[in-house]
Amino acid sequence: MKQWNGKPYYSFDYMLRNRFGEKVYKVALNGRMSCPNRDGTLGTGGCIFCSAGGSGDFAADPSFSVTQQIEQQIEALSQKRPIRKYIAYFQAFTNTYAPVDYLERIFSEALRHPKICALSIGTRPDCLPPEVLDLLEKLNQIKPVWVELGLQTIHERTARYIRRGYPLSCFQEAVRRLHKRNLEVIVHTILGLPGESPEDILETMEYLNGQNIQGVKLQLLHVLKGTDLASDYEKGQFRTYTREEYLDILIACLEHLSPDIVIHRITGDGPKDLLIAPLWASRKREVLNLLHHEMKIRDTWQGKFYHK
Ligand code: SF4
Repeated sequence: MKQWNGKPYYSFDYMLRNRFGEKVYKVALNGRMSCPNRDGTLGTGGCIFCSAGGSGDFAADPSFSVTQQIEQQIEALSQKRPIRKYIAYFQAFTNTYAPVDYLERIFSEALRHPKICALSIGTRPDCLPPEVLDLLEKLNQIKPVWVELGLQTIHERTARYIRRGYPLSCFQEAVRRLHKRNLEVIVHTILGLPGESPEDILETMEYLNGQNIQGVKLQLLHVLKGTDLASDYEKGQFRTYTREEYLDILIACLEHLSPDIVIHRITGDGPKDLLIAPLWASRKREVLNLLHHEMKIRDTWQGKFYHK
């Protein structure tokens, strides 16, 4: 059985060890930006699942500078083990939604930190004007710059329900422009969105196989307090996956995705004090162990990964 550092899929951890020669950790940063889906430009409510923290609930305190945020997180992470390399992940809200000189200042500050080996920027495909792409292309010459795009689904009816605020064609064009500038793209997807069948989800995976992307995050749909998704959930308009259902669809996605695409994430939860459902999602280690066990005892996926 082909394995990537003990895991039966091309994991983020495996990619990082190969690329940087050792284990690398992420520091989650808050660049003090907003989002056009929240500030009234496109809407005020945000995506239906997005928490008040702009999907950056684990990011550092924005009242500190970028360097301070990095230092604080390094201090916390390195208490248990010695760590030499980190990725600066601008996570909260839309991290290219600001004047380009501001972006240059905060991204350069992160890249200057000696322990930062790469920059990962979470944003929307409709927030990548040419001057921002010029900047990212320039910074990519200094240290690797990755762009994380929140697609969630390729299906327009679901995109309307979650109030994503841009069509699939916008995503496709952004990926094309990023690829042209040699910027790596990581795509966020959500498994279990209301109204989506397993076939719908696999269509999203199939579509991604045809795009010039380098990584995917497979995120379990979770319902957080204070979101409009929570209101629909409380009205009984949909239910979340059981752990077994999630493992089934997750394995199907991993089987479906091209083995060249790095799997950056296969769970996802949110802060415990905000999580409404599914509550099993907070036991992440258990979910990962079960997934690896299941993938080892099922044999349908093996052939796919042997050629790697
Ligand atoms: S684009 Fe991101 S930050 Fe903006 S509302 Fe949607 S999930 Fe939240």
